[in-house]
Amino acid sequence: MSLIDDLASVETQTGMYPGPQCTVSKILSQIDADERDYLRRVIDNPGLPGSVIAGALTRNGYAVADKTVLRHRKRGTASGCRCPKDSE
Ligand SMILES: [Zn+2]
Repeated sequence: MSLIDDLASVETQTGMYPGPQCTVSKILSQIDADERDYLRRVIDNPGLPGSVIAGALTRNGYAVADKTVLRHRKRGTASGCRCPKDSE
């Protein structure tokens, strides 16, 4: 298979990979519903730096990197994680 064929087949599969669960999604599945709503809101607030959110999570026993928080914020885009856009 040539590179172009290979890239073309990759391109058609965009969005079809479930992908590994990111750390943020894992944390969301571990905390209770109130915390989950709150955390989702905080993560989706573009005014809050990832380092602040990651710091708060890490202090509370949910170790996560700034980058991971920011990737989750951009989930569903090319530079984001593979979590579905409309859920955790
Ligand atoms: Zn994610």
